[in-house]
Amino acid sequence: MSSIKSFQDGRVIVIVDESSNKPTPIFCDVCKFPMKNLSEDSQSFQKHGVCSRCDGRFTNYPGIDWNTESAIPMNVAKDMWDDYMKERLLLSKPIINFK
Ligand SMILES: [Zn+2]
Repeated sequence: MSSIKSFQDGRVIVIVDESSNKPTPIFCDVCKFPMKNLSEDSQSFQKHGVCSRCDGRFTNYPGIDWNTESAIPMNVAKDMWDDYMKERLLLSKPIINFK
C-alpha cells in the first residue's frame, strides 16, 4: 500500500510506500546461510525474520520465539541447533570435488 503526499503547493509529489514488508536480505540473520527460495524464504522472513529452513525446522519446537533473544533455538535447543547447523554446512558443500 502506498500514499501520495504533495509538497510546495503540489509542485513536489512524493509516493510513500507504507507497506510493512521489509526487503528480504541476502543472508538469514540467524543461520547466516543465503536465502535461496525467493517465495518461501521471503514469507518466513516477513513472519519471523528468518529463512524458511530455520523457520520450518523450529516452527513446532516448544519455547521458540524468533522475536525474543532468549527464546531463539541456539539458546533454547542448543543441541538441536548445533545438529541443524552441521547438517546445513554438509548440505552446502559441493557433491563433486575437482582435484
Ligand atoms: Zn536461517
